[in-house]
Amino acid sequence: MATESIGKSELLTALGHDLVSGSLTDEALLARTDKTPPVDILPQANVVKIGGQSIIDRGRSAVFPLLDEIVENLPKHQMILGTGAGTRARHGYSVGIDLGVPTGVLSVLGTFVSMQNARMLHFLLAKHGIPFIEPIQFPQLPLYLAERRAVIFFGMPPYTFWHRNPKVGRIPPNRTDTGSYLVSEVFGTRAMIYVKDEDGLYTADPKKDKGAKLIPKITAKELVEMDLQDVVVEHAVLELMQNAEHRKTIQIINGLVPGNLTRALAGEPVGTIISAE
Ligand code: ADP
Ligand code: MG
Repeated sequence: MATESIGKSELLTALGHDLVSGSLTDEALLARTDKTPPVDILPQANVVKIGGQSIIDRGRSAVFPLLDEIVENLPKHQMILGTGAGTRARHGYSVGIDLGVPTGVLSVLGTFVSMQNARMLHFLLAKHGIPFIEPIQFPQLPLYLAERRAVIFFGMPPYTFWHRNPKVGRIPPNRTDTGSYLVSEVFGTRAMIYVKDEDGLYTADPKKDKGAKLIPKITAKELVEMDLQDVVVEHAVLELMQNAEHRKTIQIINGLVPGNLTRALAGEPVGTIISAE
């Protein structure tokens, strides 16, 4: 009864009328819902994901120069810093799998490890006024960015128990690369930069194949079609990019090389750029 009267209201657009009274599984109706472009909510912010295994697990020698570079860039660039989980999460997953816990519980374990990393980096950045925020504090992001220029969050998307099972095996498929990507997509940020320990995407894992060649530029579709044995970002990111509304490029840089982050923030094509189309 209530739906019927709302559906007849003259206040609704034609689409509004059909959404209120029609079926949300009707493809023709769904196709009409992306006619208005999505709003860029934080167009000046850059999401920067700091690798867990690739950077943070290396400790002081990798982390300190990178944090210095982040601080140097604060006057010029707003940054939403996400953290990876890395080796401790992989150990947690292996124990959890041995004990028989499901993907949703493994996802909780990974979340806490990426939070450990965010907490550690936060204490190192605290003197620069950079706050650690949890998903519940994301509404305050605009204020923190305007006041302090950067925030740090844990990269895991907060699916926890609601994490979808992977097609193969039991490791949570949406981890910190994905959580960071989704922040960039939803908030319409200026860039999505992955800071890792290789110069970008190669034709194979350069740690295992010395003949691997760097790929400076590629589309997500081409990359999926190449069906490489291993890639430098989570597969879920490549899948999400194919339906991206905003975040249509990602950049992967080597954070062990001083100056790379500064160059990427300045918009230079350092490392690899993967684009949606
Ligand atoms: P993070 O700690 O940032 O999550 P990962 O260790 O998950 O990083 O992923 C980065 C690693 O991916 C690199 O250190 C590299 O050894 C590996 N890798 C696998 N395949 C590739 C590839 N095709 N190109 C580049 N790196 C690759
Ligand atoms: Mg990873």
